[in-house]
Amino acid sequence: MAVEHTLSIIKPDATRRNLTGKINAVIEEAGLRIVAQKRVALTRAQAEGFYAVHKERSFFGELVDFMISGPVVVQALEGENAVAKYREVMGATNPANADEGTIRKQFAESIEANSVHGSDSLENAAIEISYFFAQTEIVG
Ligand code: ADP
Ligand code: MG
Repeated sequence: MAVEHTLSIIKPDATRRNLTGKINAVIEEAGLRIVAQKRVALTRAQAEGFYAVHKERSFFGELVDFMISGPVVVQALEGENAVAKYREVMGATNPANADEGTIRKQFAESIEANSVHGSDSLENAAIEISYFFAQTEIVG
């Protein structure tokens, strides 16, 4: 296994409920290191660009509205096998299907308001991290 980086977003449902610290604790306890982090209000254009791969999906408009409904915390995470590891720590997209102990099982409200985003491949992780961070902002 190699040290990887992945992009995490703590979504508006979680920032609204003041869960940033609790989610960060789950991330850190899983052995992932938060090597960049900022709290931002996404613009509609930023949210549409970030989720462009989903633009044909029926839920795209609602997803964008949700992602701009409050602040988000964008993070770069570092660790062995970080991309797959964080997907495991997040749990299934639909919290009803998420395993015990995962972030989504513990905190998500619904399939849409599911508290966190995590990159789904190493290639997308690099693209998504560079969407939000300059290399100089990532401090391992
Ligand atoms: P994941 O975030 O687990 O990688 P997807 O990439 O498939 O899931 O979807 C992106 C995001 O779109 C999800 O995290 C969730 O917020 C939202 N979403 C996915 N499926 C649905 C759905 N059926 N209805 C509403 N929102 C959805
Ligand atoms: Mg996805």
